[in-house]
Amino acid sequence: MPTITLDDSSRLSLPAELLDRLGLKPGSRLTAELDGEGRLLLTPVPEKPTSPPVSLHDSINRKNLETPLQFIKGVGPKLAAALARKGVHSAEDALYLLPNRYEDRRELRRVAQLRPGETSVFSGEVLSADLAATKGGKRFFEVVVGDGSGSIVFKWFHYNPAFMKKSWKKGRRGIFTGEVSQFGYQREIHHPEVEWLGDGEELAEVMARDPVNFGRIVPVYPLTEGVHQKTMRKIMKEAVEQFAPCVESLLPEQLAARHSLVPLPRAFRDAHLPESDADLESLNRGMTPAHRTLVFDELFFLELGLALKKQGVTLAPGISFSVTHKYTKPLLHLLPFALTGAQRRVLSEIKADMISPHPMHRLVQGDVGSGKTLVALMAALVAVENGCQVAIMAPTEILAEQHYLNIHRWCEELGVRVTLLTASLKGKAKAAVLAEIAAGEAQIVIGTHAVIQEKVEFHRLGLGIIDEQHRFGVAQRGLLKKKGETPDILVMTATPIPRTLAMTVYGDLSLSVIDELPPGRTPVETRICYESRRPQVYSLIREEIGKGRQAYVIYPLVEESEKSELKAATQMAEHLEKDIFPDLRLGVLHGRMRPEEKEAVMRSFKGGEIDILVATTVIEVGIDVPNATIMVVEHAERFGLSQLHQLRGRVGRGSGRSRCLLLTNGRLSEEGEKRLRVMEATGDGFRIAEADLEIRGPGDFLGTRQAGLPDFRVANILRDGSVLEEARREAFALVEQDPRLSLPEHARLRAELRRRWGGRLELAGIA
Ligand code: ADP
Ligand code: MG
Repeated sequence: MPTITLDDSSRLSLPAELLDRLGLKPGSRLTAELDGEGRLLLTPVPEKPTSPPVSLHDSINRKNLETPLQFIKGVGPKLAAALARKGVHSAEDALYLLPNRYEDRRELRRVAQLRPGETSVFSGEVLSADLAATKGGKRFFEVVVGDGSGSIVFKWFHYNPAFMKKSWKKGRRGIFTGEVSQFGYQREIHHPEVEWLGDGEELAEVMARDPVNFGRIVPVYPLTEGVHQKTMRKIMKEAVEQFAPCVESLLPEQLAARHSLVPLPRAFRDAHLPESDADLESLNRGMTPAHRTLVFDELFFLELGLALKKQGVTLAPGISFSVTHKYTKPLLHLLPFALTGAQRRVLSEIKADMISPHPMHRLVQGDVGSGKTLVALMAALVAVENGCQVAIMAPTEILAEQHYLNIHRWCEELGVRVTLLTASLKGKAKAAVLAEIAAGEAQIVIGTHAVIQEKVEFHRLGLGIIDEQHRFGVAQRGLLKKKGETPDILVMTATPIPRTLAMTVYGDLSLSVIDELPPGRTPVETRICYESRRPQVYSLIREEIGKGRQAYVIYPLVEESEKSELKAATQMAEHLEKDIFPDLRLGVLHGRMRPEEKEAVMRSFKGGEIDILVATTVIEVGIDVPNATIMVVEHAERFGLSQLHQLRGRVGRGSGRSRCLLLTNGRLSEEGEKRLRVMEATGDGFRIAEADLEIRGPGDFLGTRQAGLPDFRVANILRDGSVLEEARREAFALVEQDPRLSLPEHARLRAELRRRWGGRLELAGIA
C-alpha cells in the first residue's frame, strides 16, 4: 500500500503508481468520498461525453456558442475588449481562434541540451542577475541561469529595474521557457517566461500545479496586445472544455467517415489541448486529423454554398441561342490569322453554354495577350445573330475605348452596330446613345460601369461580358445580369488565378482556360536595374528606337487622384523630353486626361507617331502595340506582381525580341525584392500568380471579401488545397443528388449553410 501524506496546504501528493492505476493526468478531475470506515473513495470523473445530435439540443447548443466572451471564466471586460479587437466576441469565435503553433513542454530539458531556434522549457537556478549595457550604451537586464549541465543567459530590453531585481535573486529556482538564440558562442533567451519554485518545492509539484503550461504540448495563440500567453491558455482551456461539446458535427456520417474526420467537439479539443502523444510536427503544420476536420468542415460549407448557387443558375431557364454563322464565319475570313487551338476550344465551350436553354455563367481565364478579346467578340456575334444585344463592360474608360476601337473595326465590315458608353459621355450625346440602346439599334454596347447604371435600358440584352473581372465586385455581375431577362454572362480575366483560389473565388462559375498564346510571340527578357544603371537603360531605349521600334516608360501612380504623384510623373516626362531624348517624339498618358486626349495619344502611339510613351498604369490592361519592344518600369518595387505581369504583357506582342527593365533604387523590402526576382525568373502568368498568392496571402490577392465570400477562419488556401478539392467534390456531389437540400437528412445541413453564409448566398449569387 503506497503511503500518502498531507502537506501544509492540505494537498495530497499521490504517488505516480496510484495516478497510473486511476488513469489520472494533470488536469483530470476526480471525486473523493469518505466511506463508513473512514476510507477515502476516489473516483475519476469521466470527461463529458459529447451528446448525440438531438434536434431539441441544436438550438440550446447554438445559444451556448453565442455566449459572449465575458461569461467565460477568467475573461474580464478588459480582456474581452482586447479579444473583440481581434474579432473574437463569442464562445464560438474563441473555439475558432486556433493556436498558431505548439510548444513541446512534455519534458523539461537540461540546459546543456538547449538548441538555438527551439522554444524549450527547463529548470535551473539563478547564478547571477544584474543591470548591464551594450557597447552602444543600451541598457538591459541580464541573468545567468544554470542547472549543473551548463548555463544560459537571459536578457530583457524592456523591464522594470526594481521589479527585476526583486524577483531575479541569486539562488532562486524556477522553470523557464523561451526561444533560444545563439550569439557568437553564447546562447541567450530574450524575455523568457518563468514559473518560480516555492521554498523546498519539487519540480513535479510545480508542474502539476500548472498543468495548463507544463507537462504537455502547449498551444501558442496569436497574441493580442496586452494579453499574456498564460492568460490566453487559461481562458481558451476554459472555453474549449465548456463549449466545444456544444458544437454539432453536421456533415453526413458516411461522408465524415470517408475522409476520416473526427467529431467537431473532439477536433476543437485536440487542436487547442493536444494529447501528450500527439505528433508535434503535424500539429505545427496544421495537418492533424483535428485540423483537417476543422478545415474540411469550413471548406465543405463554402463549396456547398457555391454548388447551390451554380446549380441555381444552371437550372434556371435562359435563352437558347442558335449558331447561324451569319457573322462569325465572315469574321474568321476577315482575320489575318487563324484562331489558336485554345481559342477554338474555349469558343466551343462557350457556344455549348449559349445553345443550352439555361443561362451561361462562365469564366474565361487567359494570360495577357492570349486573345480574349477575339473570343469575346465571337461570342457577342452569336448573340447578335439571334437578334439579341450584347453589353461588354471594362473596368476603365481607356480599356473600354480600346475594346471599342478593336471591335468596332471588325463590326463595321460585318454590318454590326457598336456603341461606346462611358461616364464621360454627357448631355445630348448621352441621351442619343441611351435611346439607341433602348431601341435595340445598338447591337453591341461597350462601356465602363456606366453600362449598369439605372438609366440604361436595353431592348433585349442576351449576353453580358465582363472584362478583367477582378476589378469588379460580384454585385456588379448581378446588376449586369438584371439588365436583361435571363442573359448569359461571360467573365474574362487575365489574372491567372491559382486553381485552388479560383475554386473559391469563382467557384460558382464554369471555367474555361485559354492556355496557349498566339504563335510567334517571343518571351520578354526581364532585368532588374538599379538607379546607377539609368544611363545604360536610356541607351537601350535609344537603341530600340534606332531600329524603328517604340518604347514604354511606366511611372507608378498608386492613386490616380494623388496630385503630387501625378506631378512626379509629368515632371519625369518633361525631363526625358528635354534632357534625355530631345530628338525623339514623346507622348504622355495618364488617368486624369480627358478620354479624347487619351485616345489621341494612343492613336498616335499605335500609328508610330510617338517613339516613347510615358504612361502611368492606365496602360495596364488592353493596349496593343506590337511594334513596342522595350518597357522601362520606374519604381518597379511599388507595383504588385500581377500588375507588373500585366504591364509587361504590353511588350513582346510582335515577333521582335522584347525587353522589360525594372528600375529600382535598391532600397527594397524583402517582399519587394522577391516580387522583382519572380518577374526576372518567369513569364508564366500562373507561376507569377502563385508566387503572388504566396507573398501576399489569399486575403489580399483578389480581395475575397469584395468577391462576397466569407473569410476563412481555419482554412489556409495555400496549405489546404487538397482538402479543398475533396470538400468541393463532396459538396457538388451532394447538391447533384439533392439539388434543393430538401431531403430530411439534409435539413440541418441547410440550416447551417444559411447561418454561415447569411445574406451572402443571395448577394453573391446571380439569380
Ligand atoms: P488579351 O487576352 O490580353 O485581351 P488580346 O485579345 O488583346 O489579348 O489579344 C492580343 C493580340 O493578339 C491582339 O493583337 C490580337 O489581335 C492578337 N491575336 C488574338 N488572337 C490571335 C491569334 N489566334 N493569332 C494571332 N494573333 C492573335
Ligand atoms: Mg484584353
